[in-house]
Amino acid sequence: MKVLVIGGGAREHALCRSLSQDPSVTELHCAPGNAGIARVATLHPVDQLDGAQVLDLAVRLGAELVVVGPEAPLVAGVADPLRAAGIPVFGPSAEAAQLEGSKAFSKDVMAGAGVPTARSYVCTTPEEAAEALDAFGAPYVVKDDGLAAGKGVVVTSDREAALAHAASCERVVIEEYLDGPEVSLFAITDGTTVLPLQPAQDFKRALDGDEGPNTGGMGAYSPLPWAPAGLVEEVMESVLQPTVDELRRRGTPFSGLLYAGLALTSRGTRVIEFNARFGDPETQVVLARLRTPLAGVLLAAGNGTLDQLEPLRWSEEAAVTVVVASEGYPAAPRTGDPIEGLAEAEADGTAYVLHAGTRAGGDGEVLSAGGRVLSVTATGADLAQARERAYAGVGRISLKGGQHRTDIALKAATA
Ligand code: AMP
Repeated sequence: MKVLVIGGGAREHALCRSLSQDPSVTELHCAPGNAGIARVATLHPVDQLDGAQVLDLAVRLGAELVVVGPEAPLVAGVADPLRAAGIPVFGPSAEAAQLEGSKAFSKDVMAGAGVPTARSYVCTTPEEAAEALDAFGAPYVVKDDGLAAGKGVVVTSDREAALAHAASCERVVIEEYLDGPEVSLFAITDGTTVLPLQPAQDFKRALDGDEGPNTGGMGAYSPLPWAPAGLVEEVMESVLQPTVDELRRRGTPFSGLLYAGLALTSRGTRVIEFNARFGDPETQVVLARLRTPLAGVLLAAGNGTLDQLEPLRWSEEAAVTVVVASEGYPAAPRTGDPIEGLAEAEADGTAYVLHAGTRAGGDGEVLSAGGRVLSVTATGADLAQARERAYAGVGRISLKGGQHRTDIALKAATA
């Protein structure tokens, strides 16, 4: 199978790594990719938001499966011309990707499907925002309605800051605060059949102890030893299947990856958000544990034959990934710095480095090219061992001003 992956972050590196290990994959391409992905796939310089360019590349390569990684191309509708041309694609249509592209649409789908989520108001004026904030009280949750790369959400007890964030967005969703630990649960779906993956937890705040600003994600781990038994079954029944059914009923069937961000609150499981693609960095740990070859699973979703797939096989091992970010991330990431120690980090064979924002320099060196630069990943007999290995890898890497959290999976590993 010739496979083309669209995107160029650590999630796409994780996808490409798994696809490159699948014996059914004969050719692997990625557009635009990054310096790490170049080791396992052929890169193509393409504007990933341009559906015509992506289609042209897929046709030229004779791609038999196109996997669209990030949300921006999905929301821009890159999957649609591919599907129209009869090329199997993993990723939803532009219409279905509104599940992530618009918080208001997502809330409407949840209401229609009876999916438990935070009560919310959609607001477009300062007066509406103030009223909504006062209706719920502190802590305040204010979400930019559109795509914001995981950075459009402000959770604060400062009413002025909440109002200021609302004023800086065209349209916001203001909602009740959900307490309790967060879980990310991914499901692969062809629009009808839903196949849940293993749950993971990510770390959204920039600094140790969940301090600092929200980011795209600073690390993740799986499995979750503390999660209640039966969580996946419960979320399948109360969230994932009803949402997929509701989207099909509306005439916008969703095929690809449905990501449920959940809060396990004192009053039960609630959806914090849906995403329309693999989450980054949770994908790095979920795929580290998936034993079933990936291409066939993604192709079955693209072809609408998930009901015929054998049950997924999982490793008993635990996986941890630690993100190395550039100086100034998330506010003003500094780029263009050389990264050293990449080979050393992988030398003992226990950790591997997935590239996020990197590019090849002129002399064969690897340079930072984004806010999140690397995602150092390891598996182990348990979370403690996986952490130890991932952090040993991180310790061998040097990037000027580079930053990472030191407490990824710490609580879960020591509980
Ligand atoms: P989102 O982009 O919707 O996932 O929000 C980013 C982060 O903000 C989430 O991972 C939560 O930590 C936090 N968050 C979002 N919505 C809520 C909520 N209703 N209550 C508490 N925290 C929230």
